[in-house]
Amino acid sequence: MKALLLSVALTAALAGCATTTSPTGRTQYVGAVTQAQLDQLGAQAFAEAKAQKAQSRDARQVSYVRCVVNDLVAVLPAQWRQTSWETAVFVDPEPNAFALPGGKVGVYTGIFTVARNQDQLAAVIAHEIGHVISHHHDERITRQMQTQTGLGLISALLGARYGEAAAQTATQVGGGLAQGLFVLPNSRTQESEADVVGQQLMAQAGFDPREAVNLWQNMIQAGGSRPPEWLSTHPDPQSRIGELRSRAAGLVPSYEQARASGHQPRCG
Ligand SMILES: [Zn+2]
Repeated sequence: MKALLLSVALTAALAGCATTTSPTGRTQYVGAVTQAQLDQLGAQAFAEAKAQKAQSRDARQVSYVRCVVNDLVAVLPAQWRQTSWETAVFVDPEPNAFALPGGKVGVYTGIFTVARNQDQLAAVIAHEIGHVISHHHDERITRQMQTQTGLGLISALLGARYGEAAAQTATQVGGGLAQGLFVLPNSRTQESEADVVGQQLMAQAGFDPREAVNLWQNMIQAGGSRPPEWLSTHPDPQSRIGELRSRAAGLVPSYEQARASGHQPRCG
């Protein structure tokens, strides 16, 4: 583990970088960390979340979320299907969810107040999985690595775990350190891309892509003082709803084909 973190820090210092093409065809700068390092950081962040937050003991709720995740994962490209995906339902009234590299999905119980059927829940989770399969975490970390902030986070990661010189930075960063790497803000471009990728994914899995529109409308109505991440980067939620609605129409044939070929989710 120490070797891993040191190599992450070294790669960061050298600002190693590669380009790839995102699912919607944009050029991405990635590669400051390897996929294996990213998966390991995802697993660590998930472990931190589980150590900090109570998990739901409602077996029906837990199997409902797992069912939606499984049905979405079943239609992912092979690379992601082979990952063993893990889900957790956290007791928290915020309508929130996240997905991490390494196949980790977390859902807050508050999500059920806005995701009122399995298709709406699939819309949220597919959006989050969309960030993972579009390499948005890699892209964000690569960008951050080239700044003091990124190096600081890595120093913090090293210091906190091994009590080395950077421990003070760790205190300043606070909270879960691996999680810190993943709460870097999404760009608006990434949000739109996760919307596109997620809505395609839900249709291919046999979830009604039109329900994404209702989900985001419920989300806006729920509002609240702390908007969830998918609202925070969108200054104009109504235009986002408009885009989801116009894309939904185009995805209905793909949805119907999925249903006809046996993708008929029965999660709850
Ligand atoms: Zn998002």
